Amino acid sequence: MQEGVPAYLAQLLRAQYGEETAERIAQGYAAQRAVTLRANTLKADAKTVREKLAAQGIETSPVAWYADAMIVHGAREDALTGLDLYERGEIYLQSLSSMIPPLLLGAQPEENVLDMAAAPGGKTTQIAALTGNRAMVTACEMNKIRADRLRYNVQRQGATRVTVMNVDSRNLDDLFSFDRILLDAPCSGSGTVQMGSPRSRGQFSKEFLARTTKQQEALLLKALRLLRPGHEMIYSTCSVLAQENEEIVGRALRKAGAEVVPLDLSAFETVPRLPVSIPGTLCVAPDALHEGFFVAKIRRTK
Ligand code: SAM
Repeated sequence: MQEGVPAYLAQLLRAQYGEETAERIAQGYAAQRAVTLRANTLKADAKTVREKLAAQGIETSPVAWYADAMIVHGAREDALTGLDLYERGEIYLQSLSSMIPPLLLGAQPEENVLDMAAAPGGKTTQIAALTGNRAMVTACEMNKIRADRLRYNVQRQGATRVTVMNVDSRNLDDLFSFDRILLDAPCSGSGTVQMGSPRSRGQFSKEFLARTTKQQEALLLKALRLLRPGHEMIYSTCSVLAQENEEIVGRALRKAGAEVVPLDLSAFETVPRLPVSIPGTLCVAPDALHEGFFVAKIRRTK
């Protein structure tokens, strides 16, 4: 396997995927990942954003499955964060994979939507944009500093119907109920590893994974209590490890009245995939354009 993959992670990848696919994932970690962004349609359409970037000498290319998304060529993130259109919230720098869960959530105008692990707010503000600020979004974040960052981003992006709560979502009162829930759970970050990058995140040890999976399961069980019966939610992580993905979903389904709803992935043909053990879920393979990501849609049945 590629040098530089943390030993415990390499061991887990080999055990889950076998040598060949584990090597493919490691190559994805070694790739230089493209800078990608989303035009914030609450403030500017994609065409205008593309033109404004081109006027600054920044070329972009489109993304087949999302008209608001673009891939940036020849400019790093810091070239974008200095621009007026960034300051005004007309764009949001976001990985392509992380744009998929809000698209599959499918929130509708006037629905009550809960985002249970929301900071820094990429997906919260995307839900606001996708519904034209017509869904009511409750965005929860446990960490105070990150909740402040979330508030700032929500405000800058013009997401006017988002209420930010600095709470541990596991403690939300079961009397609340929501039409749709996004649980973009805290995770090891095994999908986001970027070898050689000082910004590469990810923590890999048996103890960390045990702690994280416990939180993920508690959060998912709470989500299924807060979701209105018959309604659907998305569980996502930026991990490619079954321990944080299919195993969490499988355990939650056994404990709660819920079922997996197969994702309609017909629009996402260009997204590289890894094998999954629950049919109808998605695990994105890391490569030069994508972070590794897992997405499952779950319906509460009773
Ligand atoms: N959804 C975010 C986005 O798209 O910008 C990224 C979320 S990040 C994967 C997970 C976040 O959940 C972290 O900011 C973390 O502090 C927060 N978190 C972890 N456990 C939580 C809990 N029990 N309740 C609320 N927030 C939690």
